[in-house]
Amino acid sequence: MYNITNILEPITLNEALRMYSDNPKLKIIAGGSDVLIQLNHGKFDDVELLSLRKIKNLNNISLLEDGTISIGAMSSFSNTFRNEIINKYLPVLTEAAVSMGGPQIRNMATIGGNICNGAVSADSAPTLFSYNAFLKLVSIDNIRMVPINDFYDGPGRVKLQPGEILTEILITKENYHKMTGNYIKFSNREAMDIAMLSVAVICNVENGVFNDLRISLGVSAPTPIRCYDAENYAKGKSFSKETIETIGQYAKKSAKARNSWRGSKAYREHLINILSQRAIKEAIKRAGGKC
Ligand SMILES: Cc1cc2nc3c(=O)[nH]c(=O)nc-3n(C[C@H](O)[C@H](O)[C@H](O)COP(=O)(O)OP(=O)(O)OC[C@H]3O[C@@H](n4cnc5c(N)ncnc54)[C@H](O)[C@@H]3O)c2cc1C
Repeated sequence: MYNITNILEPITLNEALRMYSDNPKLKIIAGGSDVLIQLNHGKFDDVELLSLRKIKNLNNISLLEDGTISIGAMSSFSNTFRNEIINKYLPVLTEAAVSMGGPQIRNMATIGGNICNGAVSADSAPTLFSYNAFLKLVSIDNIRMVPINDFYDGPGRVKLQPGEILTEILITKENYHKMTGNYIKFSNREAMDIAMLSVAVICNVENGVFNDLRISLGVSAPTPIRCYDAENYAKGKSFSKETIETIGQYAKKSAKARNSWRGSKAYREHLINILSQRAIKEAIKRAGGKC
């Protein structure tokens, strides 16, 4: 059933990087909830796996001295949504993590695997796009910091270079401080379903005005996207009904929605408009505002 020829299980990151540099054909496995399905579907022949599970500290979540939050790539979704730092400072990521899969999947699946798998439906992606997260990509002789917004390359494709491992996801203080938000996952059923559409809003509002608004969408284009036209329109505007409706229209225009068996293009566009507005209103409410 599985064409696995070998599993390497390094216990340090350096060891893993060396093994990967010596043999870039190794297939990284984290929680395995995507890799094993792909193996079962015959996507790889005679694959040699490089498991990250025994590497200590790769699942740590910490608040750094300058206020940056570091999330280890091997943090499972359960570990993420139960973490105090995440709950206190990045509650929208908690919402996204809880909405993912079911309990068994959330215990196994890692946030790093969710990003590196490149799926447009990845539940962590829209929220991390809206928090302007950076990815730390480490190889044997290099470290790159890449904005997550530049990491996706197409459906199921990300810009990992040979020998690179994602080790951390970083969110700087100015990207979450005094921000509220909301994540909405719309799917055919409540549990164990992939999103038909997802929206993550992060905003800073004050005295009835949008200082900063970020809207990201999943499953509305070949990759997760930010709705920059909607965001630019909102800046400095008071949050009246008309403003929020116009933002919804701009969000719809940013999308490159398509037909799929989960939902038609027209239905997705309707969802983008309505759910963006709903998430914005909830974010304003959470900031103590009224609209
Ligand atoms: C029943 C079921 C339900 C699911 N429901 C959802 C859902 O609701 N929402 C959702 O978003 N997803 C869902 N998924 C998909 C999957 O669980 C997630 O994408 C998960 O986060 C993948 O993480 P993983 O640790 O299992 O990754 P793996 O399967 O181990 O790896 C995924 C990919 O990332 C690469 N990779 C992993 N870690 C790294 C790293 N640190 N550096 C470089 N490359 C790496 C691997 O080589 C592989 O290509 C579901 C899957 C199943 C089986």
